Amino acid sequence: MSFEIKEKDLLARIGKLKTKSGTVETPLLFPVINPVIQPISPKNIREVFGFEALIANAYILKKRFQNQPIETGLHKFLGFNGAIMTDSGAYQILVYGDIENSPKEIVEYQEQIDTDIATILDIPTGWKVTEEHAQQTVKETLKRAKQLFTQKTRDDILWVGPVQGGRYLNLVAKSAKETGNLPFQIHALGSPTEVMERYRFDVLVDMIMTAKMNLPSDRPLHLFGAGHPFMFALAVALGCDLFDSAAYAIYARQNRYMTENGTYRLNELDYFPCTCPKCARTTPKQALELSQKEREVFLAEHNLYVCSAELKRIKQAIKDGRLWEHLEMRAHAHPALLQAVKKLGKYEEFIEKYNPIVKESGLFFFNSISLMRPEVVHYRKNLTERYTPPKQAKTFLLIPQTQTKPFHKSREYKQVAKLLNHEFKEAASKVHVCFYAAPFGVIPIELDETYPLSQHETVQPLDKETIKYVANQTADYINRTNYKTIILLNDPENWNKNILKTCKKTCRQKNIKFKSINTKKASSIRKLRLTLKN
Ligand SMILES: [Zn+2]
Repeated sequence: MSFEIKEKDLLARIGKLKTKSGTVETPLLFPVINPVIQPISPKNIREVFGFEALIANAYILKKRFQNQPIETGLHKFLGFNGAIMTDSGAYQILVYGDIENSPKEIVEYQEQIDTDIATILDIPTGWKVTEEHAQQTVKETLKRAKQLFTQKTRDDILWVGPVQGGRYLNLVAKSAKETGNLPFQIHALGSPTEVMERYRFDVLVDMIMTAKMNLPSDRPLHLFGAGHPFMFALAVALGCDLFDSAAYAIYARQNRYMTENGTYRLNELDYFPCTCPKCARTTPKQALELSQKEREVFLAEHNLYVCSAELKRIKQAIKDGRLWEHLEMRAHAHPALLQAVKKLGKYEEFIEKYNPIVKESGLFFFNSISLMRPEVVHYRKNLTERYTPPKQAKTFLLIPQTQTKPFHKSREYKQVAKLLNHEFKEAASKVHVCFYAAPFGVIPIELDETYPLSQHETVQPLDKETIKYVANQTADYINRTNYKTIILLNDPENWNKNILKTCKKTCRQKNIKFKSINTKKASSIRKLRLTLKN
């Protein structure tokens, strides 16, 4: 196996990819090298910026330099001894309609120049195309993918099998399934460039998720053309392991300055929001006074630093189990990104399957977007499918979440416990204490130390959607259990009347005795005593 997964969070993973020029760590960004117009030397990309790999276009190399890279070998030709990936010219097909080389020639050329990771000459689907055309691109790409295995002569190069289909998700699914059946080491999502240029990150989520759900999960996935750091978190969270960026250099030529939250034009800036070695010593005004060439190098270098820093933050977030928090933060950089994150709700069950059950750190719950996060989905599924209340439980005593966690160690619970254990010893075993808590719903007391039920921080007051979710979860719970009586300790301050109304309604429908006690009134424990007596 060339790919080994070390850490996971959401669908993201930190992995080791073994190539013949060394093992690289994923998520990995390949800066695009174009020897014709290269602002930073490949040698410096590794030595100064720390990138372990880069990508060049085999078609452009062949067209411009013919046999030169064959004679010296690609690594020597580029002056780079890390891992090199080559793209095939598929993007040029998308832009120019066709290229001068056959798929077989592109396969042979990549073997001859001794690349480490090679890509077949696929046919990109593009954006504004009919389903018939999209179907053709999928069919032809698949044909070429199959042909590779009769054409290639070496076994030490990792081959990339691209998935096509564009926004036609049924075609993406078919393409992923069939390409995944072939012995590729890596897959790629073909040409999402136009989708990204249009800021249709919500469509991108559909495309990536459809590919992920149909590809073998143990192979890395490359997202072609995703070179802007403000969307790395989204792509990594969805399980993309590899990226390439030409943007760092293209933006630099256009005087555009990348940040992890978006892009500035250089002349819009009064201050650099960055302390990379380039920005720390310069002001935007000084940068504008540089010659065109110098400025391009300056911006390209800054842009690469930003890309590198964001990937490191993402990797640390994966290790800490905090990628969701990081993703939420980045998503607020642009409405299109937040819209994409909201789309993840559609795939919450799939994401939940791959997300680690227990993490190093607790979770921060900011608002209702987090209701789709895998920890919440996991708890809901477990409680619904696997949990049954204690057999002897006849009375369901529902207590609001407390500041103290675990809840059973709180002052509020201890008061209730004292009452039960001293005055109602006989009946206590028949009373089942549960908490209602955001963002989880009903938490039976015997579970309240299970991760992450005690390891989370929420924002008070809760938002309406979150309260509604907890109320619905509570109603579902009452509906699938068989208590005879329900006593709700109602906290109207934090929960409005939602929990009260929902419980009352559900009990009426099920014909169960229902009693509510206002926790904000001093007499609440006395009332509980009275209620338990009856
Ligand atoms: Zn900088």
